[in-house]
Amino acid sequence: GFGHSGASLHTESEDGSGFKGHGMLAPFTAGWQISDLHPLVIERSEGSYVFDTNGKKYLDSLAGLWCTALGGSEPRLVAAATSQLNKLPFYHSFWNRTTKPSLDLAKELLEMFTARKMGKVFFTNSGSEANDSQVKLVWYYNNALGRLNKKKFIARTKAYHGSTLISASLSGLPPLHQKFDLPAPFVLHTDCPHYWRYHLPGETEEEFSGRLATNLENLILKEGPDTIAAFIAEPIMGAGGVIPPPKYYFEKVQAVLKKYDILFIADEVITAFGRLGTMFGCDKYNIQPDLVSLAKALSSAYMPIGAILVSPEIADVIHSQSNKLGSFSHGFTYSGHPVSCAVALEALKIYKERNIAERVRNLTPHFQEGIKAFAGSPIIGEIRGTGLILGTEFIDNKSPNDPFPSEWGVGAIFGAECEKRGMLVRVAGDGIFMSPPLTISPQELDELIGIYEEALKSTEEKVEDLKSK
Ligand code: PMP
Repeated sequence: GFGHSGASLHTESEDGSGFKGHGMLAPFTAGWQISDLHPLVIERSEGSYVFDTNGKKYLDSLAGLWCTALGGSEPRLVAAATSQLNKLPFYHSFWNRTTKPSLDLAKELLEMFTARKMGKVFFTNSGSEANDSQVKLVWYYNNALGRLNKKKFIARTKAYHGSTLISASLSGLPPLHQKFDLPAPFVLHTDCPHYWRYHLPGETEEEFSGRLATNLENLILKEGPDTIAAFIAEPIMGAGGVIPPPKYYFEKVQAVLKKYDILFIADEVITAFGRLGTMFGCDKYNIQPDLVSLAKALSSAYMPIGAILVSPEIADVIHSQSNKLGSFSHGFTYSGHPVSCAVALEALKIYKERNIAERVRNLTPHFQEGIKAFAGSPIIGEIRGTGLILGTEFIDNKSPNDPFPSEWGVGAIFGAECEKRGMLVRVAGDGIFMSPPLTISPQELDELIGIYEEALKSTEEKVEDLKSK
């Protein structure tokens, strides 16, 4: 994260606390940003745009945090929330009591997910909670089967699975671990499948995927297959850099996991509900997961909600062994919150009615080719993505091994140039990410590409200046 370009300097504290800046301990924000810069305060949204408190309009190229799939002003989602709030603002789902929207949403999700048959749905409030719950569910399952040592998880370097204790442990990004005494010891990390950055000279994509699968197998053998419970992966890595899998990667990885009876958890928090041009990332990459994590676009972010899809095999063990196991003593006050579920049900209805995945497939060439046309820029190493998700990596000399000096903040320069021109992108080091609302219009895509082009030109000039100093 970075201070936004329009930021003015604070002169005194605004809340009387004695700290300079506002009163929030803000997520993924540095203290100096809060003390030195005013935050960008977003006040309202309209379609693909958000507006700050000064009335300045921004094209929201990240759809909030990769989540407002239906844009910022879908009246049907508001109506669904309002109607449910009027009828029943809350009831829980503990002790075999529940609400109709949660039952309906579970049924709907089980019907929608067709990469393989799923058995049950567990509701959470977020993606992090979904992934935390995955770990507990897998432990519970292996305990029920008497597999008392099968408890370790394999995740991948550069993964993002959330920021609670367990989900941050699964994540493979150093800032989420350092200073938090993480990762937890039961989490191991294997290779990030980024072909451009990590392939050996002369190695094809398929050979690269094969090497990574072998490394995974060697890790499993070294640890002991009966100690490894599950592997977790995002179909496309999101926050770690928008990294689509290389050819045959998931085929080869799934074969290894099957061989050693290791569960596959698909973290579809970003990729579900059409973003890649298929309803789920598992459809696109032919993944048959045992467990799936969902959040974000599940409600188009209008209400907080996450979910786990559980395979029939796992659900059956929990169900059939309940005499021995007792109750499944895990859950949140707001698991299956009726307002969140009502909004999610409406979002899913809209995705189906509007053939959202097909819409994304139709927009894909416009977005992907429109931005990838700039891949020849001397400051760009790689532009990658599919559907409506894209990452740009800035690098010197077109070489993955020549990063710009981090103090130049090349990614941040690009982000600020976009912001100046009325577009918000996600900046992460020298990467910038875009995943616009799935409802974005062709005209808005033209605007997005136009701002990207201008911001790139300015960034190239600024990098030239920095180099000549
Ligand atoms: N998994 C993935 C793949 C994500 O991208 C995110 C959030 N960016 C999460 C999990 C965590 O979700 P949340 O922020 O809702 O806890």
